[in-house]
Amino acid sequence: MQFKTIIEPFRIKSVEAIKMSTLEERVQFLRDAHYNPFLLNADQVIIDLLTDSGTSAMSVNQWAAMMQGDESYAGAKSWIKLEKAIHDLTGMPYILPTHQGRAAEKILYTHLGGKGKYFISNTHFDTTRANIEFSGATAIDIPVEEAKNYVSSYPFKGNLDTVKLEVLILEYGAANVAAVILTVTNNSGGGLPVSMENAKEVSRICKQYNVLMVLDCCRIAENSFFIHRDEEGYQNKSYQDIAQEMFALADASIMSAKKDALVNMGGFLTLRNETLAEACMQLLIITEGFSTYGGLSGRDMEALAVGLVEGFDADYLHYRISSTQYLGEHIQKCGVPIIYPIGGHAVYVNAKALYNHIPVNEYPGQALVCELYKIGGIRSVEIGSVMFGKYDANGGLIPAPQELVRLAMPRRVYTQSHVDYVIEVFEEIFKTKDHVKGYKINKEPKFLRHFTAHFEKL
Ligand SMILES: *Cc1c(COP(=O)(O)O)cnc(C)c1O
Repeated sequence: MQFKTIIEPFRIKSVEAIKMSTLEERVQFLRDAHYNPFLLNADQVIIDLLTDSGTSAMSVNQWAAMMQGDESYAGAKSWIKLEKAIHDLTGMPYILPTHQGRAAEKILYTHLGGKGKYFISNTHFDTTRANIEFSGATAIDIPVEEAKNYVSSYPFKGNLDTVKLEVLILEYGAANVAAVILTVTNNSGGGLPVSMENAKEVSRICKQYNVLMVLDCCRIAENSFFIHRDEEGYQNKSYQDIAQEMFALADASIMSAKKDALVNMGGFLTLRNETLAEACMQLLIITEGFSTYGGLSGRDMEALAVGLVEGFDADYLHYRISSTQYLGEHIQKCGVPIIYPIGGHAVYVNAKALYNHIPVNEYPGQALVCELYKIGGIRSVEIGSVMFGKYDANGGLIPAPQELVRLAMPRRVYTQSHVDYVIEVFEEIFKTKDHVKGYKINKEPKFLRHFTAHFEKL
């Protein structure tokens, strides 16, 4: 018998209080934060959907393992455990621990990059692109055409366009292509998965032209869930088997363990090539720490070794993906337009379509972010012209291609009733949408303005 209520596959042993607030208080908090929820204090927020990064709840087994943290400088027991856990999953011989994903990116892409080099990806995550461009190299995104269609139900919109890949390798010259980076799931592309078929074709092309293939595997457990569910031939394989099959196709992997490895801090880089590993090891020791701890304490490595296994637990993954889908489907039922299909770690709301009376230079995404906070104390993030807009020579806005708001789901943190509350807030958002006004930017820094900009209500 299959019940339709999907329960959280865990009981709660330790709780963290949520401070409730009134509408009047939130109006004041938002004004004090210059209408930028990044500037709110976390205790002014009721449901925090700002990011799924580093916000997971750890299990009793992770907390228990932390007590066994071996803080020896070199060759700690905790490192031996972590190295084994990463090796079991990735099958790669050279493993470098880092304090988070971008530290691994900095090491590998500084070594491979530089002027005249090209990196090609389904979509580079923003820290990935920043590290590549900082080295002087160029980052090119080639998602498949289906990725731009928000209504088709094609399941693998995270795929990389392999026809374009081959054309670009020939155009730039294989020797100038520093790496092909397959991001699974495709975070910046809506958290949508990459199929095994696509990964195989990317791997085949990389081998043919002798180009390094890197797997950005932050959400490979969620990606494996989608392959198991939607790709033919994978129904009888475990999520771990599917991940291992994908790792086997790549030459290197980079993970921000703050995602699917269920820890608050951590990351790693794995490699197959000894010469490359030696060069990266040098940089690791200079910038992160000795090779048997990188940027991590012994207790961090313990929690990560356990989290890496728990992240593939079938009950957990089923609950994880179901709760994200549940949120998305119910928001959509309220009449609110979302990006379809729904990804693994977040729901993306199409703010431009919801507030079609607000022009893009008045930031409809920011308006929705502010309304969500004001009405329900929910914190989310604008992914539109505030984040990616640029100015032309006359100071006019060159808008981003889309005006989205991301609701990212922290792992194992919120329950069904929290999600139902968010859905109710969206009902109110929909009812009151025609009265909502846009914003203008009063003050902004030169780079990454969305973090610290000040806004004014129009
Ligand atoms: C989070 C993330 C990173 C960067 O990792 P940090 O741990 O935040 O430094 C890289 N790639 C992808 C796809 C990510 O989601």
